[in-house]
Amino acid sequence: MWIPNLIDSLDRPFVSIELLPPRKEAEQTGFWQSVERLKAMRPLFAAVTCGAGGKGSVGTMELSRDLAEKHGFTVMPHVTCVHSELSGLKDQLAAIQECGIRNVLAVRGDFPAGMESAPKGLRYASDLVERIVELAPDLAVGVAAYPDGHPESRSILEDIGFLKHKLDKGAAFGVTQLFFDNRRYFDMVDRLAAMGCHKPIIPSILPIRSIGQIKRVTALCNAPVPGKILSDIESAHDRGGDEAVQEYGVTMAAAQLSNLLENGASGVHIYPFNKADMCTRVLQQAGLLP
Ligand SMILES: Cc1cc2nc3c(=O)[nH]c(=O)nc-3n(C[C@H](O)[C@H](O)[C@H](O)COP(=O)(O)OP(=O)(O)OC[C@H]3O[C@@H](n4cnc5c(N)ncnc54)[C@H](O)[C@@H]3O)c2cc1C
Repeated sequence: MWIPNLIDSLDRPFVSIELLPPRKEAEQTGFWQSVERLKAMRPLFAAVTCGAGGKGSVGTMELSRDLAEKHGFTVMPHVTCVHSELSGLKDQLAAIQECGIRNVLAVRGDFPAGMESAPKGLRYASDLVERIVELAPDLAVGVAAYPDGHPESRSILEDIGFLKHKLDKGAAFGVTQLFFDNRRYFDMVDRLAAMGCHKPIIPSILPIRSIGQIKRVTALCNAPVPGKILSDIESAHDRGGDEAVQEYGVTMAAAQLSNLLENGASGVHIYPFNKADMCTRVLQQAGLLP
């Protein structure tokens, strides 16, 4: 089923998760153990990133197929401009549909070293959305949204305009970059509504695991971390090392999640980074799991 229809059919808040194809064979066992634990959270869908595992769309496809066919997940593989060729897109989408998958996330992708622009005909994610809608009308297409603005755009407003453009080209929903200030998310949703766009935009949260992780991840996606959060993490680390940081990360993510739901979000997308422990605790603390 299409993700927006799944959301509409629910009478409870949902969570969805993002998985990265494991990089090495040695990671497989731990990865699938985490997947089993994450499955117990009854996620609405599992998104599978493209590019992070170094195998591009091949790793994404393999993992998506296994999650859908062997583990019963509703799966949303990411399809990127930078890992696709216009000529091969039709086959790529056919392979996705063959395993019963009905949702994809269309993103431009970050350029790998040595690549300066996207393949011809797929410059922006909006081009990819247009092609997917044309080639595979049975797929619901999601797109990336940036409550803090995309780093290459001149302003948040300009960026929301480009998000609206992607939705107008046929995308059915958005999934946000991680963010820490919920007001930015609701502001983005309100601005879209004022432009006549009411498609679901799923907010994403990151349970912070360590100082190193938050620095690495936010540098990668250019998400600003409020100074208060950074100083709280540092004090937690001084007090009790990574364990205390994780305690703080769980409490903070649970509070952010609860606030999103209280203010009208119908669910949240969580970045577990292939580990289940913190997600389970976040949902327990937010009252979504016993
Ligand atoms: C939920 C989520 C999942 C992601 N998953 C992946 C993944 O699996 N693999 C990966 O490599 N990356 C992933 N990314 C990162 C993403 O690929 C990068 O942020 C990338 O730099 C931009 O992708 P986009 O789809 O937002 O691009 P676009 O929507 O094309 O936007 C890129 C930039 O161009 C601007 N822009 C858009 N349209 C136009 C236009 N018509 N004219 C001028 N400027 C325009 C935008 O404002 C923005 O600054 C993900 C991001 C999110 C939020």
